Amino acid sequence: PVIPVNTPSATYDVTIAPNLLRTLHPRLRKLNPGKPFRPFIVTSPNIWALWSKPFLASFKEPPTVLFHPAGERHKRMSSVESLAQQLATAGADRDSLLLAFGGGVIGDITGFLAAIYMRGIRYVQIPTTLLAQVDSSIGGKTGVNLAAGKNLIGSFHHPQAVLADTDLLRTLPPAELRAGLQESIKAGIIYDAKLFRYMEQNAEAILSTKRNADTKALTKVVAASVRVKADVVSKDEKESGLRMILNFGHTIGHAVEAATNYQQLLHGEAVAWGSIAALNVAIARKTIKPKEAERITKLILRYGPLPTFKATAEKLVALTSRDKKNRSGIRSFVLPTAIGKVEIVRNVTEPELLAATNSML
Ligand code: NAD
Ligand code: ZN
Repeated sequence: PVIPVNTPSATYDVTIAPNLLRTLHPRLRKLNPGKPFRPFIVTSPNIWALWSKPFLASFKEPPTVLFHPAGERHKRMSSVESLAQQLATAGADRDSLLLAFGGGVIGDITGFLAAIYMRGIRYVQIPTTLLAQVDSSIGGKTGVNLAAGKNLIGSFHHPQAVLADTDLLRTLPPAELRAGLQESIKAGIIYDAKLFRYMEQNAEAILSTKRNADTKALTKVVAASVRVKADVVSKDEKESGLRMILNFGHTIGHAVEAATNYQQLLHGEAVAWGSIAALNVAIARKTIKPKEAERITKLILRYGPLPTFKATAEKLVALTSRDKKNRSGIRSFVLPTAIGKVEIVRNVTEPELLAATNSML
């Protein structure tokens, strides 16, 4: 499938298919008709060790490869500076094209590098994790972390294209796959009841990680999730309204990540906990039918197991007041009203949130 993203500042396609890597060069050529482009790959050593062969198959001259270590703790300004220095040394100029080949960390850092190197150059996202394919590679948000918090420095800079090869997911650690699928469940809850139902009915096929497993079911889920993200960011690029719904589960989710120092849980796992907490608010308010709420909890747990962690509800709620998404100190909450539908509310009180978080723990 080819899914368009169409925002006021950029128009591009997300292509989802197996065996995409082998045709990379002609695809990049087509994106830049008549224009010179010199590709530079940004990736991590582990991903390159697994996938460099098919990646390079369509290149006549091997492009320069810049390595960035895997791991959230390396998503920092210092890495951006070091990569920029390497680009300059290798002679990269305004005609250079960065290829972000990795998960969300590589994607965010490469996108930010492309946004600021020589005041902005082109880049293409070639996401290798489920989370990156369904979420982080789309929408133009790029950036790095500060000691004071995640993603506090960044910029909007859209890629020229997103090329998502679903074969890449076969080497992904199973926990990373399951965690990423929590973002697909989120997409179903907030926007796409059909995707939600498909994930209910095909869990086994979707979760199968056997080497030669049929990736048809997984490809379907990736495509449907991408459609949700592409549609939402096309309607609200800068998050003035609708795009906020993508933050479902993320208020408490981010608090869980912060409380565990970003070490114990994967992002998707923390979001899964946060989704259950947000759902609890809706259940207590009786703004969702118990039956629908039950289906949501059940699906989240079906794509588990969710690792447990130690943190009190008080601590988690206190951490939410530091969330970057707050405006003028007001917490916006995304609450499901039915499968596929949410509302944004601004009047969730502290006691309400405490109770919801307590029943999650
Ligand atoms: P990640 O990039 O750290 O990748 C997870 C791990 O999987 C890494 O160790 C990586 O080396 C490994 N890996 C990647 N692809 C592989 C493959 N095909 N086979 C084997 N191993 C592979 O984590 P992630 O979950 O992809 O991304 C998380 C990041 O995304 C966070 O920094 C988050 O802030 C960011 N994010 C950004 C946006 C956005 O809109 N820009 C949205 C959501 C998340
Ligand atoms: Zn997320």
